[in-house]
Amino acid sequence: MADDYDVVIVGASIAGCASAVLFANLGARVALLEKHSNMDAYKVLCTHTLQPSCMPVLKTLGLLPLLEEAGAQEHVTHLWTRWGWIAPQPEPGKDALPHGLNIRRQTLDPLLRRLAAETPGVDLRLGQNVNGLLEENGRFTGVRITANGAETRVNARLVVGADGRNSTVAGLSGLPARLSANNRLGFFAQYRGLPAPEGNPSRVWFLDPDTAFAFPNDGDITVVACSPNKEQHSSAFREDLEGSFERFVRALPDAPRIDEAERVSKIVGTLDLPNVYRKPYGPGLALVGDAALATDPLWGVGCGWAFQSAQWLVDAVGPAVAGQGDVLPGLAEYAKVHRAGLDSHHKLMENYSAVRPFNPFERLLLSAAARDAGAARHYYAFASRLIDIKEFASPGSLLRAVRVNAFHRLRNGSSDSAKARTPF
Ligand SMILES: Cc1cc2nc3c(=O)[nH]c(=O)nc-3n(C[C@H](O)[C@H](O)[C@H](O)COP(=O)(O)OP(=O)(O)OC[C@H]3O[C@@H](n4cnc5c(N)ncnc54)[C@H](O)[C@@H]3O)c2cc1C
Repeated sequence: MADDYDVVIVGASIAGCASAVLFANLGARVALLEKHSNMDAYKVLCTHTLQPSCMPVLKTLGLLPLLEEAGAQEHVTHLWTRWGWIAPQPEPGKDALPHGLNIRRQTLDPLLRRLAAETPGVDLRLGQNVNGLLEENGRFTGVRITANGAETRVNARLVVGADGRNSTVAGLSGLPARLSANNRLGFFAQYRGLPAPEGNPSRVWFLDPDTAFAFPNDGDITVVACSPNKEQHSSAFREDLEGSFERFVRALPDAPRIDEAERVSKIVGTLDLPNVYRKPYGPGLALVGDAALATDPLWGVGCGWAFQSAQWLVDAVGPAVAGQGDVLPGLAEYAKVHRAGLDSHHKLMENYSAVRPFNPFERLLLSAAARDAGAARHYYAFASRLIDIKEFASPGSLLRAVRVNAFHRLRNGSSDSAKARTPF
């Protein structure tokens, strides 16, 4: 038996559901296939902070009121550095800073899946573990599900792999991939009733090179996470996960007061999470979300990029898909936009995931951001993925950072202990 659609999307999580809704809104007939059979399934390995860069897509999808109703927490992230806190504030008399949202995946994933299922044109099929691709005359023409000796085929003019970092679709398609080591561990737990600092910001600690996070979410739950380097910490975390995690968190400067809160989840995490970078398209096939690019989770960008890549794909090929045109030229355009939007961010993250101390440029820009409101806003725009590295480290912003630090040194003289450890 074979069914015919305009698009078949494999994976009904963030990238898959977002793509399905956006394609269907253009009039396409979409098959959305998900291996889990439970509508409420969600991704456990995620600390689910959504960066400001994806807010326009959430708006287009009509998700913002639903997320607000579900208790999503707006956030402007504060960062601890050895030079002090970077706590971005709006310019006096100007609009608030662009914010992101924190919402637990157990809230977000079912909500998004329901939105997709209720969108006219989307046919959500749960319990469909895709394990084959259909090909004809050198292009992909659909997918195959073989289970218990029975085969189901779904034909479509475009196949979309939205099936995560270990993408089956990517593997079957043979698209080139580059894997690189991530030399950090990642662990986190959910706490209810964690006392919050004023304004309840999301907080990130750059311990250089280790990192930690505390993100307030819906339901009075704060996710507390740490990313220690493997070389120093692997055996301790392997031997005593709970003790190592809690000791690490308690030792943070201005530490989250976990002893005054109730831990409501296990401490979960991973010992190995390589960076995965794939060519995001082939003939008649595209990859979105983690299937295309799964970068170090330390930066909290994957969910946002899953939304954004869905939007870029539909912008590039949606009209051709819905209007029965040729999808191939649009696929190359999608890859271009994907590359332009994410490559430079990813390269820096990949490089940092090797575990190295901050380089001189990072020290310059971060120390200035801890000392100057304008430099803090500039850093925040970069960390929110609203500007790229070229703009972040432009000659103008480097010059401003040098000025900020020179002025700081003049004012504070040699009594500044941070200065003793760093040229900035
Ligand atoms: C420890 C950790 C913490 C993270 N924290 C953050 C964070 O704070 N902020 C952030 O933005 N990102 C974070 N991320 C990254 C984020 O989780 C991912 O980038 C995001 O989930 C990608 O969404 P996706 O839709 O592309 O893939 P996924 O969410 O992985 O979804 C893939 C979907 O495909 C389905 N599927 C897989 N194979 C098949 C198949 N063969 N057939 C049918 N269906 C299939 C799966 O069941 C799943 O539903 C974190 C990641 C990790 C590991």
